[in-house]
Amino acid sequence: MSVQQDVDLRALNTFGFAARAERFVRAQSLDMLQQAVVLARTEGWPLLLLGGGSNLVLRERIPGLVVQVALKGRAVRVEGDSVLATVAAGESWHDTVAWSLQQGYFGLENLALIPGTVGAAPMQNIGAYGVELEERFHELRALDIETGEICRFSRADCAFGYRDSLFKSRQPGRYVILDVTFALSCRPEPVLRYRALAEELQRRGIEQPTPQDVFDAVCSVRRSKLPDPALIGNAGSFFKNPVVTAAQYRSLRTAFPDLVAFEAGQDYKLAAGWLIDRCGWKGHRQGAVGVYPHQALVLVNEGEGCASELLRLADAITDSVRERFGVELEMEPRVYPARQGRIIKRLFAD
Ligand SMILES: Cc1cc2nc3c(=O)[nH]c(=O)nc-3n(C[C@H](O)[C@H](O)[C@H](O)COP(=O)(O)OP(=O)(O)OC[C@H]3O[C@@H](n4cnc5c(N)ncnc54)[C@H](O)[C@@H]3O)c2cc1C
Repeated sequence: MSVQQDVDLRALNTFGFAARAERFVRAQSLDMLQQAVVLARTEGWPLLLLGGGSNLVLRERIPGLVVQVALKGRAVRVEGDSVLATVAAGESWHDTVAWSLQQGYFGLENLALIPGTVGAAPMQNIGAYGVELEERFHELRALDIETGEICRFSRADCAFGYRDSLFKSRQPGRYVILDVTFALSCRPEPVLRYRALAEELQRRGIEQPTPQDVFDAVCSVRRSKLPDPALIGNAGSFFKNPVVTAAQYRSLRTAFPDLVAFEAGQDYKLAAGWLIDRCGWKGHRQGAVGVYPHQALVLVNEGEGCASELLRLADAITDSVRERFGVELEMEPRVYPARQGRIIKRLFAD
């Protein structure tokens, strides 16, 4: 296993920040991955697992060891209409969605064009256009960094939530996801509950969409709404949509009748983009970083920006949303190395 020193990560994070890793390993086999994990533990180095770098805010210096999980491979078991597809962590997420469609295995099409790897997808239970990963999840295998064991996790074990899982919030940094098994179907059952998707299919004059139609429509809507990280640095939605109780929602709705929100069980999910837009941030530039002019939920790096500049902007946005609406925004990407606690005041009692 070769450990590289002082590696430039600019091309390995979609913000395009000029971060440098003290040490770096690209793990292309389980053996390499295990060796890297043991080395970091023995030496007491902090360990950062890297997939496609599309949900990370990397600071200038990354201490310890960065391990890029580059395991490849796919295997399939078909029984009747049911398909169990096991995909290695380092495979590209979007390529996997396209591959599954080509094979006639349906279910992932709404999640097309999300950047990153298969291994990172369960971390925040990726979701888009009416589907979350957990709905297509069967199980995953992960390497326990503390014990060195390889463990299996069922859907219940993963404790999936909205942009959340066991791996993101309850046991962060404990497991390396090795592969994920998806429960797919040879029988198409398009999910059209997301309004923008249904409208796009209608606009195309498609009444009975195939999974390929859904895939094409999702790609087209995403390309029209989100900046391409190859052209403008970004990590997709920068903030989660805040979830509030029905009582909080009603009081906000009275004060702001055009508030955009969605039912989420007994609670309500507020559209973070709407809150940010109403505070006047859309299109705002602060040095090289800013708020994407076409979608207030996306923060961008237009050139030589850095993590601290972006986090200052994120803090200013969070403060203004709290002051105006009494709602706390939570960042979606992970900042690495982590920030030393910013004091956040909750305005609504939990
Ligand atoms: C333009 C754009 C659009 C996006 N749209 C969406 C969207 O619609 N929905 C959505 O949910 N997300 C979206 N994202 C966010 C992002 O693409 C996803 O969260 C994606 O799953 C991150 O994958 P990654 O491989 O890039 O992870 P990274 O950014 O490399 O890592 C993310 C986290 O996972 C950890 N990690 C990575 N690999 C492993 C592994 N094998 N085992 C354990 N931990 C690991 C990292 O340490 C880090 O904490 C978008 C991002 C961009 C840039």
